[in-house]
Amino acid sequence: MRILKIQTLRGPNYWSIRRHKLIVMRLDLESLAETPSNEIPGFYEGLVEALPSLEGHYCSPGCRGGFLMRVREGTMMGHIVEHVALELQELAGMHVGFGRTRETATPGVYQVVIEYLNEEAGRYAGRAAVRLCQSIVDRGRYPKAELEQDIQDLKDFWRDASLGPSTEAIVKEAEKRGIPWMSLPARFLIQLGYGVNQKRMQATMTNNTGILGVELACDKEATKRILDANGVPVPRGTVINFLDDLEEAIEYVGGYPIVIKPLDGNHGRGITIDIRTWDEAEAAYETARQISRSIIIERYYVGRDHRVLVVDGKVVAVAERIPAHVVADGRSTIAELIDETNKDPNRGEGHDNVLTKIELDRSSYQLLDRQGYDLDSVPSKGTICYLRATANLSTGGSAIDRTDEIHPENLWLAQRVVKIIGLDIAGLDVVTTDISRPLRDVDGVIVEVNAAPGFRMHVAPSQGIPRNVAGAVIDMLFPSEKPSYIPILSVTGTNGKTTTTRLLAHIYKQTGKVVGYTTTDGTYIGDFLVEAGDNTGPQSAHVILQDPTVEVAVLESARGGILRSGLGFDAANVGVVLNVAADHLGIGDIDTIDQLANLKSVVAEAVYPDGYAVLNADDHRVAAMAEKTKANIAYFTMNPDSELVRKHIQKGGVAAVYENGYLSIVKGDWTHRIERAENIPLTMGGKAPFMIANALAAALAAFVQNVTIEEIRAGLRTFRASVSQTPGRMNLFNLGKYHALVDYAHNPASYEAVGSFVRNWTTGQRIGVVGGPGDRRDEDFVTLGKLAADIFDYIIVKEDDDTRGRARGSASDLIIEGIKEVRPNSRYESILDETQAIDKALDMAPDGSLVVILPESVSRAIRLIKVRGVQEEIQPQN
Ligand code: ATP
Ligand code: ATP
Ligand code: MG
Ligand code: MG
Repeated sequence: MRILKIQTLRGPNYWSIRRHKLIVMRLDLESLAETPSNEIPGFYEGLVEALPSLEGHYCSPGCRGGFLMRVREGTMMGHIVEHVALELQELAGMHVGFGRTRETATPGVYQVVIEYLNEEAGRYAGRAAVRLCQSIVDRGRYPKAELEQDIQDLKDFWRDASLGPSTEAIVKEAEKRGIPWMSLPARFLIQLGYGVNQKRMQATMTNNTGILGVELACDKEATKRILDANGVPVPRGTVINFLDDLEEAIEYVGGYPIVIKPLDGNHGRGITIDIRTWDEAEAAYETARQISRSIIIERYYVGRDHRVLVVDGKVVAVAERIPAHVVADGRSTIAELIDETNKDPNRGEGHDNVLTKIELDRSSYQLLDRQGYDLDSVPSKGTICYLRATANLSTGGSAIDRTDEIHPENLWLAQRVVKIIGLDIAGLDVVTTDISRPLRDVDGVIVEVNAAPGFRMHVAPSQGIPRNVAGAVIDMLFPSEKPSYIPILSVTGTNGKTTTTRLLAHIYKQTGKVVGYTTTDGTYIGDFLVEAGDNTGPQSAHVILQDPTVEVAVLESARGGILRSGLGFDAANVGVVLNVAADHLGIGDIDTIDQLANLKSVVAEAVYPDGYAVLNADDHRVAAMAEKTKANIAYFTMNPDSELVRKHIQKGGVAAVYENGYLSIVKGDWTHRIERAENIPLTMGGKAPFMIANALAAALAAFVQNVTIEEIRAGLRTFRASVSQTPGRMNLFNLGKYHALVDYAHNPASYEAVGSFVRNWTTGQRIGVVGGPGDRRDEDFVTLGKLAADIFDYIIVKEDDDTRGRARGSASDLIIEGIKEVRPNSRYESILDETQAIDKALDMAPDGSLVVILPESVSRAIRLIKVRGVQEEIQPQN
């Protein structure tokens, strides 16, 4: 077996609209192409031995053991690789269920599709599955050690990619509410929502978190001074920079016991509490000195440690934090008790689990010593031995929810304190013997205010009720009336995508909104180019959706991007499908026009149920997409008598119709005329029917988004772009006595489209300069010839400079064959050199005629025309 290609999909795609995270592996079975699993000796047994848990895969039989039954009875290796890849991820703790396997048009080559949670893990699982299966085929087994290594590697990918418990909680809550989110290419920065409605988070700081508040909270001494000045109970203390000042400082705070900590520390680092002697104080000073130059000396307050979480001015959770400890069983040593406690599966490394493993440091031994123990002691049953002085979860502490117990006065105080410091999200460290009594009554203090407090202890306390604190954050960022989305309008089709996208963006601009749009020419925001180039993939969509100024996104969604990585967004408000015609067939395992239609259908299907799929009623493959989408349908048609559209309107639907020379919206009993085609420059005076169709699609997409008829009209009338912006798209030049048209039509459907305009040219002869790239199939040239014979009065057949391997003259011969087949007495000649052919056509053009050039080089053709003194450029999008 050989993996030919691995692709990573990240949005709605050809295989699934709902499952966005898929790996597509193109797999050549090679020698196994004709051998089902039952014909490989020992394969079934080897597979069951390596992965007995495959028993849990139902597969088509629909019952436990169903998949293994298929293996025993005989199934192809691609299918087995799919199940193995899913199972490997499952064994590493990533729950994935979706898989598909299809043979391609190339015999023995399969597409294996597997779901992933983590991209790298997904690709790895695909490769490992191939390795595992091949090994069982070759040797009857897959070594256990290798399997274990695979699973460990997969676990590592998963862990390394995890967001951290607080971010994870926020992101999950966002997903639950249907708010889109993405990781930004800056460490830990998360975007919630799109465009102008986006919010940002980094851990538990938001884009509303003020820098002054954060700076103040990070300076423990300044925080205390401000709070003290406001009558808030804080520890009595002072800051020193020299050991010489220590003695005096201890006296100032009222003598032992004291606390010594670095001025700007966190996570309990460098802190010693409950210091009772000079020796301890000296040592504690040195410890704090490792972290910070300035040292805080404070009175030690007896009590338990609490974290009070305030979000958007309200206390949303209270937790009591208990320092790392063990409970004696009367038999084990303290060292053994620690080992036992650390075996708890809830204890992980760092912040990656509910609790963190207990690790000992210098202070631990001191603390044990003070309690009269060492690691080898066996305390009597039930004794609690503390191993850390401070209660940080990251040093092995645990948490008990106390939200329902806090005294109302403490609640009020906490909320007031956070306002004074100026934070939208803050965690207060409160030391008190009893949180259910006012602090002042029990000599409790607020030790510190934390910006970016961790959520772990509230979301997953070791005891008590978990609190949905992330919900409070999302409530603050997106209050019920505030949207997280911006409208997304996505446009696909074989021809006319760029034109329609630009027009739709232009119409939307009439509403005064900032429109971001992507096309094959580039990415734009408002009137400005962000980036030139073919920008129809998901990355470009992200540029728009991440831009904080963009209010509306219009996205050209081309075949290649959807196939390679899926759409760049979860769902659109409007999905426009213009047409489906033969083009690019045979690329990317899309071999038939129906497969191509299925691919384009992704745009119609990935629309919110309350959004609209805007479909071409005149193209049966597009119209049929109505069956597949859950969204509302809106049709556009060039045919005012369309039966489909008539029925649709009868049922209360909306449509855009070309009737009596007008582009109109039809809804219910009413026809709203937008504008005469003649007055819409894009339609070239109403002579280019396909442009009318594009304009109908754009008008309809805008209309279903509540853009007014007046705004749509204004947009249609004023849509102009220069030849330099859209070279090769119906660029029409007035040369005084005659006209010349340059178009980059590149498939039969677009030749037809250009033809529909040319046929409307009634003032004189129609001369065509035609040819095509040499790598097309022979029959494509014949088709071109036939079309040309139908469209033009006189044809000059030329060839590209680059014949792409084809013998010079052969393309021309095939075109002429096509011409003669349709009209044996057509007037034509063959001039293989493109420049000479164009010049000849322009030289011979009689008065009132139209010279249509379908060139290899658009820029050269335009140059050849311009030297003849162009009087006016009449551009559709121009
Ligand atoms: P974190 O980042 O986890 O909040 P930190 O390094 O910022 O910790 P503090 O919050 O100042 O440090 O102190 C850590 C813990 O030490 C407190 O939560 C409290 O339990 C204890 N502590 C600190 N100062 C005092 C004090 N003056 N009296 C009693 N206990 C104290
Ligand atoms: P690409 O696949 O190159 O991005 P596109 O779909 O974006 O193409 P446009 O750039 O808008 O299409 O138009 C390219 C050419 O396709 C036009 O110059 C015209 O010849 C033809 N065309 C445009 N609209 C249609 C249509 N609705 N039906 C058929 N042909 C069209
Ligand atoms: Mg603290
Ligand atoms: Mg395009």
